[in-house]
Amino acid sequence: MHNADILFRGARLFDGTLSSIGVKDGKITSIEPDGSANISAHNVVDLGGALVVSGFVEGHIHLDTSFYGDAWKPHILCTAGFDVRERVEFQRRNMTQAAPMAERARSQLELCIANGSTHMRSHVMVDARVGLESLETIVAVREEYQDFIDVQLVAFPQNGIIDCQGTAELLDAAFDTGCNVIGGLDPASFDRDTKAHLDVVFGIAEKRGVDIDIHLHDPDMLGIFELEEIAARSRALGMQGHVAVSHAYALGEVPIDVARRTARLLAEAGIAIMTNAPGDRAFPPVLELRRAGVTVFSGSDNIRDSWWPYGDGDMLGRAMMIGYRSGFYTDEDLRVAFDVVTEAGAKALGLVDYGLRRNASADFVTLNAEHIPEAIVSVPKNRSVYKAGKCVVRQGVFVGK
Ligand SMILES: [Zn+2]
Repeated sequence: MHNADILFRGARLFDGTLSSIGVKDGKITSIEPDGSANISAHNVVDLGGALVVSGFVEGHIHLDTSFYGDAWKPHILCTAGFDVRERVEFQRRNMTQAAPMAERARSQLELCIANGSTHMRSHVMVDARVGLESLETIVAVREEYQDFIDVQLVAFPQNGIIDCQGTAELLDAAFDTGCNVIGGLDPASFDRDTKAHLDVVFGIAEKRGVDIDIHLHDPDMLGIFELEEIAARSRALGMQGHVAVSHAYALGEVPIDVARRTARLLAEAGIAIMTNAPGDRAFPPVLELRRAGVTVFSGSDNIRDSWWPYGDGDMLGRAMMIGYRSGFYTDEDLRVAFDVVTEAGAKALGLVDYGLRRNASADFVTLNAEHIPEAIVSVPKNRSVYKAGKCVVRQGVFVGK
């Protein structure tokens, strides 16, 4: 007989068994079939046969630039097709009329937590135009929510590095302000100097001992060229497992044999790929990448911001969209979609105490579904969320604060 602080009974696991989860000091101490659990606990919670899964990993979001919780901002179209510079300018204009950043970030965090995310990676603008101000604001909000969600912050040079003088120094200084990961943005098309851009990004990563996550929208063979450059540097610096590329649309645009060849390079260099399977864009072939050994993770990315009006902070819904757009029909493939927003996300973010297993942090979500494939296609709402064993969302409502 061992002791736990809380015993969660009636937890339906992925294989259908009803189990009891013991939690002590915020960690899972045991998972045993109901009835056979040899545990005593003062506090017993009956989960009533709900499907219990690990908290979702929101691997790519922008807490500083969303207008969720603010007045609706109608989308503005680019004048001649998608153009990153033009969108950045729309964003700058919109931001001058937005509600205070801390308020908007709180709304977005509570939305994500209510949907079951227990871990997050948010990019935050750091460049010579906005300085460190956005980062300071988001670091303070992160602290308010630290008992409900773990948040990594990426220093994101939205206005380029080489093209925006003073940004390289600020990106470095961001690591004295609470930043965790160094970002980048389209080294070729935005800064028009792949080598100089990557010199700064990898230089800071090496100096500060931090991971890398680069936004890469660049298309076709230009994007592939940049992926090859990033892979070469990751290998040269022994950074396998510490570098991610977000979007990498190019992988979905080039012929499949080029995508396969690049996937092998990425796998050897230990580079993770983030995709949110957005709207009408080609996106990386998830199964091909995974077959090659690449970690594929996901995130909401933009939620009601200057880039698009969509987004609901629901990583289970995101998994459904990835599965839907990838043509995932079999149970096996539906489980892949689920893995992308849970275990693969944890791997990409380097989380060490993640998962529904002994000694992991007791971060889990209850879903009204029989099993994972059903959860992916039905995207059940009214979830309850537990962070370190404490209920922070009850039936879809954030109750943490
Ligand atoms: Zn982004």
